[in-house]
Amino acid sequence: MAVRLLSRLVLPEIRGTVYSSSAAAPATLSDFDVQHKTPVIRKQQSIPKAQYGGRHAVSMLPGGGIGPECMSYVRDIFNYIGAPVDFEVVDIDPNVDNDDDVQYAITTIKRNGVGIKGNIETKSEAAYVTSRNVALRNELDMYAYVLNCKSYPGVSTRHKDIDIVIIRQNTEGEYAMLEHESVRGVIESMKVVTASNSERVARFAFEYAKRNGRKKVTTVHKANIMKISDGLFLETSRRLAKEYPDIEHNDMIIDNCCMQLVARPHQFDVMLMTNLYGSIVSNVVCGILGGAGLLSGRNYGDNYAVFEPGTRNTGTAIAGKNIANPIAMINASVDMLEHLGHRYHADLLRNAVNRTINVDRILTSDCGGTASSTDVVNAIKENANLIANKLHLG
Ligand code: ADP
Ligand code: MG
Repeated sequence: MAVRLLSRLVLPEIRGTVYSSSAAAPATLSDFDVQHKTPVIRKQQSIPKAQYGGRHAVSMLPGGGIGPECMSYVRDIFNYIGAPVDFEVVDIDPNVDNDDDVQYAITTIKRNGVGIKGNIETKSEAAYVTSRNVALRNELDMYAYVLNCKSYPGVSTRHKDIDIVIIRQNTEGEYAMLEHESVRGVIESMKVVTASNSERVARFAFEYAKRNGRKKVTTVHKANIMKISDGLFLETSRRLAKEYPDIEHNDMIIDNCCMQLVARPHQFDVMLMTNLYGSIVSNVVCGILGGAGLLSGRNYGDNYAVFEPGTRNTGTAIAGKNIANPIAMINASVDMLEHLGHRYHADLLRNAVNRTINVDRILTSDCGGTASSTDVVNAIKENANLIANKLHLG
């Protein structure tokens, strides 16, 4: 509240723009800087999903590394199954220092309401050039990240039948990108935890649990050390838990959580955590389930949704070799179809993916197989064809 009040006093010119700000920033920052470099600002504009003649328009941001080839597979499959989606492709040059491309990408997502993305690199090492991925999430106020982690029986892993949902605060915490050198040789990095964003993401987690028939929410934290910041996050989730008596709530310290995940992952149901813990835990769980190439993640705000591979890897070393696992991006596209309400095509594609992995076991090398990326894509198309024919005949 104090921060919000301050912004009213200091920044009347920024409040005059279409966005409302909730954080103070030096008046020398441009509007764009204010949007991207002050993470606690909340901006929202309610715009429906773009739809023209029954078809949805979606912003596609291929990003670097394996992003472009994975996006080409998604487009190929969408054409093949006739999914009613048109993509507006936006390339972001990782080498330039200005934010024009990102600004344009954000404009298109605002217009379309929905996006699908690969990992966007920020090659500049200049401190004032901030991560594009983070800028996108902040600007679109996508405060919750959801990663569904469900085992594929066709991928051999140490643990079987895991079914965990990770819900991660997606816009603040350790990703505030507020660092400075207070005196020479002493760098301070701010971890920003706000009551309002902690409450929004906790509410999101409990609502998610309730709507999806989940039994338990575990809040992951380090409140024994970061007593005030993680303390607020933990206290907020404990308070909200009382509004959901049917859902069990417990909490776990992040270090122990990582050990428990590797040793006894079945104890987890829905997990709720701050930004950096979310990134680490997501990667741990993806590792347990078969690697970076399988799972997809969803970024949600009140108005926009962006879908992407779950571990947000670029895959620079494997790009252009026809060896990347295309499943993570294809799963992101299934999530997107579901979000758009295209149930038939979402189910068709999800079933085709499951069949390819679990029945035919056509897998790329990261999952122990010998198939190329395009082998997997072709198998998914064939399976989609088989399933669609069966549906129409039956
Ligand atoms: P880098 O930063 O070196 O490009 P990443 O962080 O992008 O590596 O990815 C981490 C690891 O996960 C790498 O070994 C990469 O090859 C692997 N990986 C990421 N995405 C995929 C994918 N879709 N299929 C197979 N391996 C992947
Ligand atoms: Mg990486």
